[in-house]
Amino acid sequence: MAEAVQQIYPEAKLAFGPSTEEGFYYDFLHPTPFTPACFPAIEEAMTKIVATDSPFQREEWSRKDAHRHFCDRGERLKAEHVLSISEDEAITVYHQGDWLDLCRGPHGVSTKGVGTAFKLLSVSEALWKGGEPKLQRIRATCWPTRVELERYLERIERAKQSDHRRLGRGLYHFQEEAAGSVFWHQKGFALYRTCERYIRARLSQEGYHEVRTPQLIDRSLWEQSGHWQKFREHMYTIAEQDETAEGGSRTFALKPMNCPGHVQIFKQDVVSYRELPMRLAEFGQVHRNEPSGALHGLMRARAFTQDDGHIFCREGQIVEETRRFCVLLQSIYKDFGFSEISVKFSDRPSERAGEDALWDKAEAALTEAAAAAGLATELNAGEGAFYGPKLEFVLRDALGRDWQCGTWQVDFVLPRRLQAHYIDERGERQHPVLLHRAILGSLERFLGILMEHTGGALPLWLAPVQVVVATITNKSDPYAQQCARAFETAGLRVLLDDRAEKIGYKVREHSERKVPVIAVVGEKERVAEQVALRRFGGFGKQDGEGVMALSDAVSLLSEQGLLPRSCRGVVEGGVS
Ligand code: ZN
Repeated sequence: MAEAVQQIYPEAKLAFGPSTEEGFYYDFLHPTPFTPACFPAIEEAMTKIVATDSPFQREEWSRKDAHRHFCDRGERLKAEHVLSISEDEAITVYHQGDWLDLCRGPHGVSTKGVGTAFKLLSVSEALWKGGEPKLQRIRATCWPTRVELERYLERIERAKQSDHRRLGRGLYHFQEEAAGSVFWHQKGFALYRTCERYIRARLSQEGYHEVRTPQLIDRSLWEQSGHWQKFREHMYTIAEQDETAEGGSRTFALKPMNCPGHVQIFKQDVVSYRELPMRLAEFGQVHRNEPSGALHGLMRARAFTQDDGHIFCREGQIVEETRRFCVLLQSIYKDFGFSEISVKFSDRPSERAGEDALWDKAEAALTEAAAAAGLATELNAGEGAFYGPKLEFVLRDALGRDWQCGTWQVDFVLPRRLQAHYIDERGERQHPVLLHRAILGSLERFLGILMEHTGGALPLWLAPVQVVVATITNKSDPYAQQCARAFETAGLRVLLDDRAEKIGYKVREHSERKVPVIAVVGEKERVAEQVALRRFGGFGKQDGEGVMALSDAVSLLSEQGLLPRSCRGVVEGGVS
């Protein structure tokens, strides 16, 4: 592809062009922008190069020769890169015909082997080694056969249609000044809060106490917890001038995790063994520094909210706590419409804290508990945290993709490091076991997954707008307002569409936005005090559709639009 691009655009200079999981790309420095309109000509040139069947030939060059060669050709990025290759590493180039490129290799035998089942996909901005100059990245894919290529293209088209960044328009946005942090708009935040309200209700039933811990915590606590040593490069820090402090300044870090904060709360009181297990939960906003190239909408952000929780318990309570957690997690995923869940069990890594006897106990407890909850686990050998084994819960979405969301980790180390104790039945101080857990993982990411899983057609209880009341003619406006108020009073999220548009147009527009229920009202409905309910895409037809009395529609939808039954009967925000 790079050779073809340079044939057509001799001014194009080369940066890097690696293979990726599903294809390859090349970054070019070029004065004018490439567009998809350039692709057919490049593909044609590629096909010709393949047909020449030129052998790929490997050569080892000296640094000096390589540097001179690229300088002579005006390939300043390649020349710069040659100088950054370490002295003891061989510099290899591959050429086909008289075109060549730096490459570690290996390559195939000749250009013919590439075949013709390739396609250029997109062009986007890229950076040279993360900085200037700005480059243009042409992405492409290549398959052994045409059939496989077609199948792949179909798959990415389907994924594009259900990309949360497309489906989420109007719900949230990102902008460069706050890269990696989401701006939730009114409707998007309604969705977010519904999700939060639901989780809060479920945790409250399970005996969790909700807490909130500081965003900014002094470096010394992160050093004690070990995060400073292990996680420093992902942490945002802030220096504060403080004359009272030794040396005059202190360093704070924005929390990347909530665990040390929860341990501080646990430590404030003398805790008796009778109070264990103690379950603390927090919608904890954390910040982690991700390279800008890795950011991906809600799926990978720099600021996100974990449905985090920490359970302080005794060793003998691990099995029961694990079992309860697995049952809760399965029930929550089911409410969100996910039924395929797999569990990875990560056991002891080679570098670890704690004695083997402790690990034996913890691993056995996790295996036993997952089985008791009816979950089959797949071993992820040696992938546990250094402080203990863990379970990772993976959801399969409607497009067959896997997303790791939930986590459950047994930790014997942090309570010791941060000197957390409880008093046992003999009046002696003991370290509790700390269980780190999350079900959705990141709320932001989970909502992104949910949008893609449902293709934007969220179930009634989650939809940001649950019911649109749409008028047929303006004559029915006062009655439509009465209907909207009735739905609203019943706790539903309602939009009144009394624009002077044709009803067919309104229905089409709200259906495109995948509003679950449209209540159509005209003169006939007004006279009879009725509404005509339409369900999105026929989903939920069995739940009630067609013309019915307004009062029946209100009681039907208010029941269906509430949080799922699994969390009824709990006072919001209430704790055990
Ligand atoms: Zn934690």
